[in-house]
Amino acid sequence: MHEGPSSHLCELAEGRLDTATGQRSVFALRDISPGEVIAVFGGSIVDAAQLAALGPGVGNYTIQVDEELYLVSTSDGPGDWINHACDPNAGFRGQITLVAMRSIARGEEICFDYAMADGSPYDEFACGCGSLRCRGRVTGDDWKDTRLWARYAGYFSAYLARRIAMLEAAREEFRSAAPRRMVRRVAGRPRA
Ligand SMILES: [Zn+2]
Repeated sequence: MHEGPSSHLCELAEGRLDTATGQRSVFALRDISPGEVIAVFGGSIVDAAQLAALGPGVGNYTIQVDEELYLVSTSDGPGDWINHACDPNAGFRGQITLVAMRSIARGEEICFDYAMADGSPYDEFACGCGSLRCRGRVTGDDWKDTRLWARYAGYFSAYLARRIAMLEAAREEFRSAAPRRMVRRVAGRPRA
C-alpha cells in the first residue's frame, strides 16, 4: 500500500510554505498547457453528518464530490494546498482531477474557484484574492451564479455540472413555453 499524502500533486507543480504568514500554496514549476492534469485529490469519503462531526477547520482539507458527499484528505500534502481564487487558472475534470483551464506560466500560483466544487455551505470564507472579479465572500451558493456557468463551462465538478445542466434545461423549457402561452392567450380572446 502506498504510504503518502492523500492527494497527488503532479511533478509540474510544487507546494510552498510562506514561513512569515504560514500560508501554503502551489506554484507551477514549468509552463503548463490547457488540459494538463495538475493534481488528483484523494482521501476518505464522508457524508454531511460525518463531515459536521469532524469539526471546524476540516473544510480546508475537504472537497465536495457529490450530493451530500465529501472527500476529506486523511494525510496532508502539497496536493491539499491549492488555494481558492475568484479568477482561477485551473478547474475540474470529473470530481477529483484538477486540470489547467488555460496556459499557466512557470512560477504562477495555481488556483481554482471553490465554487467549481462546493455546492453546500461547509466551507465559507472571506476572500482577498485581489482579482477584479473577487466576490469578497466565497459561499456554498456561488455555483448558482450564471456568469460562472459561462466562465467555467466544462470545469465544474461533475455533480455541479449536472445540477447546472438541469437548471439550464428548466430555463430553456420556460423560454420555449413562453410564446405558446402568449399564443393561447391571444387564441382565447373572444372574437370581435
Ligand atoms: Zn476572491
